[in-house]
Amino acid sequence: MNNILNIKQGAIEELYDILLSNNITGKFLYISDKFIDNLYGNLIKQQIQKLGILQIEYIDNNSIELAMKIAEEVIENNIDYIVGLGGGKVLDVCKYASYISKISCISIPTTISNDGIASPIAVLKKRDGKVQSLGCKMPKAIILDTNFIQSCPVELTKAGIGDTISNYMALKDWKNAYLKKKDQMNNFAYLMSENALDSLMRTNYKSICPEFIKALANSIILSGIAMEFAGSSRPVSGSEHLFSHALDYYTNHNNLHGIQVALGTVSMLKLLKEDYSLILEYLNKFDVNINPKKLGITKQEFVLCMQKASSMRPNRYTYLNEINLDTKELEKIYEELEEEL
Ligand SMILES: [Zn+2]
Repeated sequence: MNNILNIKQGAIEELYDILLSNNITGKFLYISDKFIDNLYGNLIKQQIQKLGILQIEYIDNNSIELAMKIAEEVIENNIDYIVGLGGGKVLDVCKYASYISKISCISIPTTISNDGIASPIAVLKKRDGKVQSLGCKMPKAIILDTNFIQSCPVELTKAGIGDTISNYMALKDWKNAYLKKKDQMNNFAYLMSENALDSLMRTNYKSICPEFIKALANSIILSGIAMEFAGSSRPVSGSEHLFSHALDYYTNHNNLHGIQVALGTVSMLKLLKEDYSLILEYLNKFDVNINPKKLGITKQEFVLCMQKASSMRPNRYTYLNEINLDTKELEKIYEELEEEL
């Protein structure tokens, strides 16, 4: 199966034609959650039914156990393709199940809140309730209808902006780690992640319109391809992501990933005494709020999570390994963020 990428307004109405013209017929396992299925499911299921046999699975969590159970179902029933409709959680289960069962995944995202929709990484829940990032494969096909994204809560799209913006810090960390001989460089992957960031930063849209959504989706998918090329999340995940992982681990605020990594990006740039005005300007333009206090993150939590961040993934060398993480310094940064953002 070739890679299929179709991003446009109304893309979903052409699902049948897109799949048929790529000879995608046979036995499908459609996976979604009940809420999303109620909104868009019929439109998709009707078209897939015309391409073969359709099995349906509604899921309500993103546990490793569930992903493994679905992989088993795929193997037992000789399924040819998984079709996933939903946001990050549903698609992560689909990606992992398709990776384990070695069949292709057709991804139909309904949100673009992070680069997980196209990444070769599934974030799944362990039995203890904590999440784990697991390597898998990018979906073979991504059909993204910008109408879906336009209809989803705008906060999710703002988080997608934050996750893409965080490529800036991730690339800075990667370059530094390479120069310090702490990591390898993959120039193709670096270029792709950089392009994902630059093409978004260069857009002149001032609101989240369909054209902007298309540009953001392009950037998010490019970030996914960068990870696939590098064979790791390195091109899009540095110190700012480690900080976000620490927030997920040590606190219970349930802020969106993309918002946390954008806060991590600005915080790291402040700690490094680097210019972050362009990034902040861009976030402000789309009203992406990353003020830690407004996100419910206390000063103590901010300090703790910055200090614990590098231990979230000790083999990923970042600026966190080099900078001053004294409590006093971090408290000062928090106070400044509280004022400025
Ligand atoms: Zn991310």
